[in-house]
Amino acid sequence: MDTAVSELAALRGFIDRHPRLFVLTGAGVSTDSGIPDYRDTEGEWKRQPPMTLQTFMGGELARARYWARSMVGWRRFGHVRPNASHLALARLEARGHVAILVTQNVDGLHEAAGSRDVVDLHGRLDAVRCMNCDWRGNRHDWQDALHALNPDWVALEASDAPDGDADLDGHDFSRFAVPPCPRCGGIVKPDVVFFGETVPRDRVDRANAGLANADAVLVVGSSLMVYSGYRFVTAASRSGIPIAAINLGRTRADSLLTLKVEQPCAVALEAL
Ligand SMILES: [Zn+2]
Repeated sequence: MDTAVSELAALRGFIDRHPRLFVLTGAGVSTDSGIPDYRDTEGEWKRQPPMTLQTFMGGELARARYWARSMVGWRRFGHVRPNASHLALARLEARGHVAILVTQNVDGLHEAAGSRDVVDLHGRLDAVRCMNCDWRGNRHDWQDALHALNPDWVALEASDAPDGDADLDGHDFSRFAVPPCPRCGGIVKPDVVFFGETVPRDRVDRANAGLANADAVLVVGSSLMVYSGYRFVTAASRSGIPIAAINLGRTRADSLLTLKVEQPCAVALEAL
């Protein structure tokens, strides 16, 4: 039997033996929806590291650059659809096999595919909020506000980057106007966790409660380089909970894995 076939048989066996999975997903699940990944198979950055909270809050020009790129990227990102991996995980939940699904992705595609018990660890890009008064808004309305203030930028084309971003190098971002919070005039940020920002406590608590109720961990499409996801895997390992991973390339937790399936997420999940 070749490696790929035996890996899939082992994965099926793993899932049959563990009916209460803690599923942890990362960027690899969404690449088939056309959202690029940040990291290569060695877990290294493919491009510039993403925005940090400090940079975003630290300067008007950084925010103008962020929102200009986001405005162009959102035209496509705002319409991405779930793919076979999201749908397969939703079916797995419908069959009662998922204790909880924790995602590091900010695209909302698990919910769009029908998964119900989802923790969006890093927030969602379809919402914005004010850093001063906690006003919350819808990203589609925010897009209209960005367009209204920046008509010259509406027609720009750019290649897509991760997280709804777009490459717009060489533009003068000082000419891009960012709307203030409609309630207090404060700084509006996408409702996602930037690098350098902590994951809200209630999300971590919900994920931990799910882990306490789980009999195994299934990592899908993540190299686990980010601590916010990796910590659940180390916690599972300490508790003696078996861990399987579907990921093309290295993960930070390779030494902790019971089973590693090095295949595209959709191929592995559809085989279930
Ligand atoms: Zn405000």
